[in-house]
Amino acid sequence: MVVRDVTEEYSQVARIEQERAAALREAEEARQQANTDALTGLANRRSAMQALDREIMRARHSGDPLALLVFDVDHFKAVNDTHGHTQGDLVLTEIGRIIRQQKRDGQFAARVGGEEFLMILPGTNGRAASAAAERLRLAIDHGTRSSDAPSVTVSVGHAALVPGDTSLTLFARADEALYAAKRGGRNQVRLAA
Ligand code: GH3
Ligand code: MG
Ligand code: MG
Repeated sequence: MVVRDVTEEYSQVARIEQERAAALREAEEARQQANTDALTGLANRRSAMQALDREIMRARHSGDPLALLVFDVDHFKAVNDTHGHTQGDLVLTEIGRIIRQQKRDGQFAARVGGEEFLMILPGTNGRAASAAAERLRLAIDHGTRSSDAPSVTVSVGHAALVPGDTSLTLFARADEALYAAKRGGRNQVRLAA
């Protein structure tokens, strides 16, 4: 009698623990999904802005530099119009793959809009960020040219963290530089003023 009671109790505890573990796994999956862009597998905008806030705080404490790259596919509407939306999606997936390849440890990459991406480069000054932006531009130019997806180029704007910056002001400066790169003829890198 006593033996049977203990066994039942034990199996009940085991079942509750299994259910708890499953609930935790599901919550973690939901959290991942909420932070991930489904098409490219990169982080999404929401997660990117959180990461930017976090990296700005870290840079403030450490005194290390911080750079932000924002980039946008050139004439992407024409890619869709010429090759169709599915091929357009394939371009975005391919860019996601190239970005993941380019990304170094400690850096953070995200798709923040339809055909707009960003990279956060901790410990990187303006000069090194220019070089990184140029490498990225070339990697996407060459990478999409040698892939099955239609070839595209990107314009890149970048900005360095200055005292008093928030994620929004830093992002806005990088975005302004991106639009200067667009106005300058696209397929190029510009540093924020
Ligand atoms: P610019 O060089 O000035 O950036 O020109 P653009 O044509 O790239 O810019 P525009 O903002 O005019 O067009 C962006 C296009 O991106 C329009 C939209 O249909 C397309 N787009 C946005 N999100 C997606 C997506 O998830 N998949 C596909 N295939 N296209 C998308
Ligand atoms: Mg575009
Ligand atoms: Mg755009």
